[in-house]
Amino acid sequence: MKTCAQGSLNLLEMARFSNARIFQASTSEVYGDPETHPQHEGYRGSVNPVGPRACYDEGKRCAETLFLNYYRQHKVPVKVGRIFNTYGPYMRSNDGRVVPNLIGQALRNRPLTIYGDGNQTRSFCYVDDLIDAAQRFMATPDEVPVPLNLGNPAEITMLELADTIIALTGSRSRITFRPLPVDDPIRRCPDISHAREKLGWTPSTPFVEGLRRTIDYFESTLMAKGQTPSKAMTGS
Ligand code: UDP
Repeated sequence: MKTCAQGSLNLLEMARFSNARIFQASTSEVYGDPETHPQHEGYRGSVNPVGPRACYDEGKRCAETLFLNYYRQHKVPVKVGRIFNTYGPYMRSNDGRVVPNLIGQALRNRPLTIYGDGNQTRSFCYVDDLIDAAQRFMATPDEVPVPLNLGNPAEITMLELADTIIALTGSRSRITFRPLPVDDPIRRCPDISHAREKLGWTPSTPFVEGLRRTIDYFESTLMAKGQTPSKAMTGS
């Protein structure tokens, strides 16, 4: 909460005094566990303000308020991008997110941990597509700011994700089920019609292609650490 709020204030002051344009890496979490689907920017969200995710969700919502008010009061040119789930090479292997978790488990032939029944959905955007959108956004003229959803609307369940990762890695892993974290959103998918229109952008990396590149990255980091990946262990 402090990073989102105090950190945003510090950077907004810096942008104000150096006449800089500033991008807020906001998040789909501002929509909480959404009641509308897909999520468009006009939807105000359904966040539990006292739950364990609230420090992030409410922190980012507070940051959006600060960014918009710095525009209103000080004319700081701000760009607010609501980033949906993003993945790709150079993710941290132990950050707890689903893509590095499942790839790491598959490459070691360990059980893939699915939280809840695995029917919850996410929509994953390959990192290069997301960076392309962010760069285009920063190059747009400075006008009255409105938040833009940035993400890939291709929606899948966590069970489908696990099956795809097992197939692509050639792993012998099975799936194991763990409790669903509190306030875990059930469905998430961006409506990116505003980003398409304003940025002339659309994500272009097919999910399987992006996953292959991400798996290659984790495979090479495991090999560098001397931990043999699954394909080598199975001889396939
Ligand atoms: N998840 C899972 N297994 C894991 C890690 C996460 O099933 O090992 C689920 C998690 O409960 C959520 C989804 O995968 O429903 C995406 O989780 P992540 O933390 O990657 O992103 P976020 O929840 O912030 O969208």
